[in-house]
Amino acid sequence: RSNVASVSPILTKLKKDCATPLPVLRHVAEAMAKDMRAGLAVDGGSDLKMILSYVDSLPSGNEKGLFYALDLGGTNFRVLRVQLGGKEERVIDVEFEQVSIPQELMFGTSEELFDFIASGLAKFAEKESVKFHLPPGRQREIGFTFSFPVKQTSIDSGILIKWTKGFSVSGTAGRDVVACLNEAMQRQGLDMRVSALVNDTVGTLAGARYWDDDVMVAVILGTGTNACYVERTDSIPKLQGKMKYSGRTIINTEWGAFSNGLPLTEFDRDMDAASINPGEQIFEKTISGMYLGEIVRRVLMKLAEEGAIFGKSIPQKLYTPFTLRTPDICAMQQDKSDDLQTVGSILYDVAELEPNLNTRKTVVDVCDTIVKRGGRLAGAGIVGILQKMEEDSKGIIFSKRTVVAMDGGLYEHYPQYRRYLHEAVVELLGMEIARNVVIEHSKDGSGIGAALLAASNSKYD
Ligand code: ADP
Repeated sequence: RSNVASVSPILTKLKKDCATPLPVLRHVAEAMAKDMRAGLAVDGGSDLKMILSYVDSLPSGNEKGLFYALDLGGTNFRVLRVQLGGKEERVIDVEFEQVSIPQELMFGTSEELFDFIASGLAKFAEKESVKFHLPPGRQREIGFTFSFPVKQTSIDSGILIKWTKGFSVSGTAGRDVVACLNEAMQRQGLDMRVSALVNDTVGTLAGARYWDDDVMVAVILGTGTNACYVERTDSIPKLQGKMKYSGRTIINTEWGAFSNGLPLTEFDRDMDAASINPGEQIFEKTISGMYLGEIVRRVLMKLAEEGAIFGKSIPQKLYTPFTLRTPDICAMQQDKSDDLQTVGSILYDVAELEPNLNTRKTVVDVCDTIVKRGGRLAGAGIVGILQKMEEDSKGIIFSKRTVVAMDGGLYEHYPQYRRYLHEAVVELLGMEIARNVVIEHSKDGSGIGAALLAASNSKYD
């Protein structure tokens, strides 16, 4: 029933447009390094914002005492407390809770949202047991992970540029989010203070660094994507002499906005045009979990219309944006049965499609094409960061062990994606150097990371 004559040219063109042979990967890695430099030179100098984190002392393992963390990055917020015992005892105890944010608060006022968060934090703090202790006369200190675009002005302040990820709260944009939280805590009568405001990638780097001194880069591959790394202050021209004291700081690249030299298809361009932020976050739209399933859906739509791979009538569901999600394409790729039973049932469940075996094979092939491109480009991005660091440090990155801490549901749950990423890194660096580059999953390190940054930026030392 399918029109083979028109299916195969579409697939051939798709693979050609998505191809990531070594020269393409090299070009992407080099462009990433170049854009990083441009973003470090001046604000607005590149697609990459290269945001200063104001984190210039990384966790050492010597941190001691009770610290809290608060993480706001999506439809949940998380609170955590940890009792740190220094080099020997490390994490003596840790407790956390997750609270989901009522839908209406995502469209309410800033006071309502921050009051809700402060009251959640207050309830959690009330339940603090005797396992946790604070020296007398001290305020409880918080590391606040806030994963929205912020213009940071110091380690404990930052102005919200705009809400994203479905939040549309009035009265926060243009304000210091730490001040918003502090005021809400005061209204709740909660005697705590934010001593570090951190991006989630920065929290991940700090959390991983606590256990391993060789961690130099952190990458999040989840719904969206971002990366941060340890930079030398003398490699940041836009600092203009500020922060000379330290020598090193963490830079939040905001690499989702990268766009140079990416192999893109008509499907990417259409998806971008239909998105809420056309022309923005192109790297993110090519490699992150929010979009991989949607790109596949768009390819399937074309194959259905022009190649009739699903027969003559196409279910309306296939036309609905984001019906096919990345976990679905991931599950289809895990189907190792001869008749691709799971592929068939997933396509039926999500879009009422009833594909024959040949079509099921085609669908898996499309998933693999899109995921391979995503994973390999993510790998090239990582190598771009490492190469930039290597060039500036004259050899201390590749000649010794260097760790890249990875987190996020896409990296964690998608084995093919992970494999393609690792393969690209090895192809680019060569076996010899790749042996020194350890890419390591650091699960949920960002919560403890934020608490550790509260400790290293405590007002009491
Ligand atoms: P977030 O990035 O939303 O803060 P996560 O790091 O948990 O949270 O990432 C969630 C994303 O990970 C999902 O949007 C999805 O794209 C991806 N993901 C989750 N589960 C799977 C899975 N089983 N297979 C592939 N991708 C997955």
